[in-house]
Amino acid sequence: MYELTILGNKVCLVADSLGGSIESGLPRETCPSCGQADCVNECDGAQGADENNTESEEDAIGRQRYNAAVDALESILLAHACAGIKVDEPAYVAGLETALDAFSNNF
Ligand SMILES: [Zn+2]
Repeated sequence: MYELTILGNKVCLVADSLGGSIESGLPRETCPSCGQADCVNECDGAQGADENNTESEEDAIGRQRYNAAVDALESILLAHACAGIKVDEPAYVAGLETALDAFSNNF
């Protein structure tokens, strides 16, 4: 069981050589209208959206790319933990934070 703080976010994961899971992960960027991470300009009120979705297509795509990159980062983190890498080492966490910063800047 690892408890990491990555850019102020608590991330808990359980891992052993047989596999593992992320118990609580990094936050995803959510649709400003409905609050769902997987919505791409498709909310219609059924998901509790406001009347109009004002997020631009470009922003929605950038948000999806960011979320996909965070998914991948969590998968790699879990795989490293399962492989026996000490993922709570400060240098390792600093590397994760650098990657997250890069996602924020690039998407
Ligand atoms: Zn939405």
